[in-house]
Order: sequence, then structure tokens, then C-alpha cells
Amino acid sequence: MKKYTNNDVYKILSEEIKVTQVMHSMTVEELCAKESDVDFWEELSEHLDCFRICDACHKPMIEGYCIDDGAEHYCSRECLHTQMTDEEFEELSDEDGTSYFTNWYEDSSVMGTHTEMEK
Ligand SMILES: [Zn+2]
Repeated sequence: MKKYTNNDVYKILSEEIKVTQVMHSMTVEELCAKESDVDFWEELSEHLDCFRICDACHKPMIEGYCIDDGAEHYCSRECLHTQMTDEEFEELSDEDGTSYFTNWYEDSSVMGTHTEMEK
């Protein structure tokens, strides 16, 4: 079900950093080494909109679960399950549509067209 491996995530982020120049360029290897450096990801997420940090394992992710319009984020079912069951998630996503599985990278790439925004 997951489209991107961790390595894909770092590849994309490395590319985004180079393109946006929000900080000095970093290689995939350098980003990998930052895997458990939450402060680093928090700072980067203030500059880049194409990824989120998982609230359970604190790793960067470009697709995952968005709970309650961004109150919480989880990268995988395993991480989601630390807080709720699949049933609870489905209830949340059915009720008000503020909880969903999404891909922030693809969302940020289509920014400007807002096809998804106007429901
Ligand atoms: Zn996680």
C-alpha cells in the first residue's frame, strides 16, 4: 500500500531542498543520518510543505495519515495503531472528513490548481 520507501522520501526531500534552497544542499545519505533528529525535521518542515513528521516514530514522511486536520500525523498503519484502531480511524474519516490518508508531496506539487481544495 505504501508507494514510497524511506529512501524515496529522502531522495525527494534532498531534491526539494536543492530546488527551494531553504538550506544548504544535503545528500540522501546525509538526510538518512538525520533520521532520528526530530529538531532537524521540525525546522525543515517549517520551510517545506511536501512532508510531515510522524507523531509516533518521529520520522519524516510524504504520505500518511492526517488526523483531525493535522492535529496528528502518522506514517503507517503500525504508527496509527499506537493511537487508534482502523475502525476508529474510519469513524473519524467518515464523520467530518478532517481525518484522511494523503500524500503531501503530491498535494504540494499541484498547488496553484486547487482542484482538491474546492469540494
Ligand atoms: Zn511513524
